[in-house]
Amino acid sequence: MYKYFNNVVSIAKALMIKRISKGNIVVDATVGNGNDTLLLAQLVGEEGKVYGFDIQESAINNTNLKLIENNFNESVYLIKDSHENIDQYVVDKADLIVFNLGYLPGGSHDIVTKAETTVIALEKSLDLLKENGLLLVTTYVGHNEGKTEDRQINKYFSVIDQKKFNVLKFEFINQINYPPVLYCVEKNKL
Ligand code: SAH
Repeated sequence: MYKYFNNVVSIAKALMIKRISKGNIVVDATVGNGNDTLLLAQLVGEEGKVYGFDIQESAINNTNLKLIENNFNESVYLIKDSHENIDQYVVDKADLIVFNLGYLPGGSHDIVTKAETTVIALEKSLDLLKENGLLLVTTYVGHNEGKTEDRQINKYFSVIDQKKFNVLKFEFINQINYPPVLYCVEKNKL
């Protein structure tokens, strides 16, 4: 496990490891290079299911290769479409849904997640969560588009009913250069 919580990526991973069990149904809403997708596939095992979304063909292909190389492709459904359409593909209720926003490292900076569609996808994701399910969202506030997106997400999460959801924001307040921020939303017992 992680000895130090010095970045939100480690915190998100630790939460995934803690909360996901074999047989769970989980969603990676932004597969990118497939690192989270592979971890999710390992955690849910053969009896579980991972849905992965990305709008870039290269992200889907790279992720698929990574899964095949590691022999973890069986339980993963990769979907080349925007996560705002998540409800058209994910039919089961999910134990955990993860969004790692921004642009693909090493890819085009023009293809970046956008506030408007992200918030729609988040609303749908909260509906899709099981009771006690977790939504993890990493935002990248170091660039303008990401800052705007983070503000919209913060605004949306600030007003959702606390009886229905527990919303936690992880933010390093002593680090330079606008480190990423992690939101963790848990669905309460209804
Ligand atoms: N910033 C992260 C990686 C983010 S990758 C890091 O540093 O690790 C974000 C991915 O989201 C990209 O691969 C991009 O293609 C994808 N993406 C952008 N808009 C999307 C959308 N509407 N639906 C699904 N995926 C999207």
